[in-house]
Amino acid sequence: MPLHNSMKHQTYKLLSTTRMNLLIPREKQTHLINRTTPTLPSLKRQKTLKEFTSLTIRLIPQKRESLIGYFIRLAHANGLSTVYDLISTVQLSRLVQAKLSISDSLWLNQILGRETTFESEIPPLKSNQLYVSHRLLKPKVCIFCLKENGIHKDNWQHAHHLVCEIHETLLISTCHTCKAPLEWDTALLGGRCANKACNEHLILEDTALPSLSAKQIDDCLLVDLITTTQAKCLTQKRVYCDVKDINKALYQNCQRLNDKDLFYNQVIKPVLSSDLCTSAYPISIKVLPLSFIIKHLKEDWSVLLWLKAYIQTGTRNLGNNETFPDVWMKVQDISEVLELSREDIKHLYKTKHFKSKTGAHFINNSSILELSGLFSALQSTPTEMQKRFLSYSEVIINTKAYHTPIFAIIYAMLSGRLSYHYYTNRTLLCSLFVDEGEITEFAREWLLAHKETCMTIREFISLFELNSNDISELFNATADINKPVKLSKLKAIVLPNYLHKLTFKN
Ligand SMILES: [Zn+2]
Ligand SMILES: [Zn+2]
Repeated sequence: MPLHNSMKHQTYKLLSTTRMNLLIPREKQTHLINRTTPTLPSLKRQKTLKEFTSLTIRLIPQKRESLIGYFIRLAHANGLSTVYDLISTVQLSRLVQAKLSISDSLWLNQILGRETTFESEIPPLKSNQLYVSHRLLKPKVCIFCLKENGIHKDNWQHAHHLVCEIHETLLISTCHTCKAPLEWDTALLGGRCANKACNEHLILEDTALPSLSAKQIDDCLLVDLITTTQAKCLTQKRVYCDVKDINKALYQNCQRLNDKDLFYNQVIKPVLSSDLCTSAYPISIKVLPLSFIIKHLKEDWSVLLWLKAYIQTGTRNLGNNETFPDVWMKVQDISEVLELSREDIKHLYKTKHFKSKTGAHFINNSSILELSGLFSALQSTPTEMQKRFLSYSEVIINTKAYHTPIFAIIYAMLSGRLSYHYYTNRTLLCSLFVDEGEITEFAREWLLAHKETCMTIREFISLFELNSNDISELFNATADINKPVKLSKLKAIVLPNYLHKLTFKN
C-alpha cells in the first residue's frame, strides 16, 4: 500500500530513527528482539514474533490513535482473530505502556514497509509523589466512539481523562455484563467485551461520577492504593496507575474522602490493624501511615481536617467514646519503627505501657505487643510547648544524654520529673520535645546511679564537664579515649575524688 503524501503528518515518528535498519537481516532482527525481550512467556508467542515479516494490509495509524489500538486494528485487518497472533504478550505489555523497543520499531517498519513513528499523549510526570506516569494499563474507552470508528485514542488511557470530548459520556474500563476489567483485543474496538466468556456489547453504566479536579483524582488514587495494597508497598513510586476499575475507584474513594466515618472505618482502621504491620517503616505503624496520608492528600477534603486533628492529638478530642486506637506490633518491628532498644521495650512492657495478649512474663522478638498505652500516656500528660524545647532526636545529637536509655527518659517524663511536650511526628523520638539542659542533667544523674552502660572517656568527660585536672587519672587508666569503657570503671576512677564537684537538682 503506497504512502500518501496527505498522510505524512499523521504518520508516527520512530523512537529510534534508524532508517537503514529496514534492511536489517532477519537473523539479526530476531536476535535483537530476543535480547530486548528476555522473558517471553510462551514459545507460541515467541514464534509469532518471527512469523510476520510483511503484512498484506498496511493500515495508516489514525490521529491520536493509541499504539496498542493500532496493533489490534492491524491484526484484525490482516485476518488474524486476535492481536496475540500478531504480537507477543511481552510486546503487548510494552505497547500498552506506549513503548516501542528498538526491535519492535524495526519489525514494525519491516511489516509495514515504511518508517512509522509514534508519540505518546501521556507524558511522564516529574513531580508526582506516587506515579511516574498517569497512564492506565487496562483499556479505558468511549463506547460510542468505538462504535462509530473503532479507533482507540491514546489520551483515554490518562487517569485524569474521564469523559469523551465528543460524546461527553463517561469513559469505561470494565464490562457492565461480566464486571471484569476490559481486555485488549479485537472485540474491544468493536465496542464489545473482549473477555471470551462474555463477548457482550459494552454498555454505559449509570454511574454519576462527581466532577473531580486532577488533584482530587490523584487523592482518590492514593486512597485506592492504600486500601487495595494495604499500605504495604507505598515506599516506592508506581510506574503506572494500575487501577482495576478507575470509575469505581474514584467514586468509592471520593465518598471515603468526604465522610469521616467511612474514612476511619475503611481507610484508617485497616491501616492500623496489626495484620498490616510490616517493617516497611514509616508506612507500617499507626501514627506514621496517617502522616503519610496527610502528606499526600492535597485537597481540602472534609476528612482532611479531621485527619490532622486525629494525628496530632489522638482520638481523644474526636468524641467522648473514642479512645486511642489499638496498635499491635511485633517486638522487632516496634524496635525498628519506634527506635527503641530491646531493653527499652522490655522495661515499657514491665511497666504495662506495652501490653501482650498472653500477658507473658518474658517477651522475645516475635512477641506481639500493643502500643496504645504508651501513646495515650505520653499524649495525655504533656506540659505546655515551650520555645526552648527541642525534639529529643535533635537533643541527643548535641548533648550527652544518649547513654541514658529511652525508657528511663520516658519514665521521667510520665512521672513529671522531666518537662516535655508531645507533638506527633514521624517517629516517637521526633515527637517528644524536651529541654536540653534538663535532660542533660537528668542523664548525668541517671548514669551516676547505674553502672551497666559503657561509654568512652571522651563522652564521660564531656557529660560531666570534667576539667584537665580531673581527668589525668582517667588518661592513665586507659590509653584510648574513644574506646567504650564500663561506666562503673570510669566512676570508680573519677568519682571518689570529684563527686563533690557535681551538683544536681532534685
Ligand atoms: Zn466518544
Ligand atoms: Zn464482559
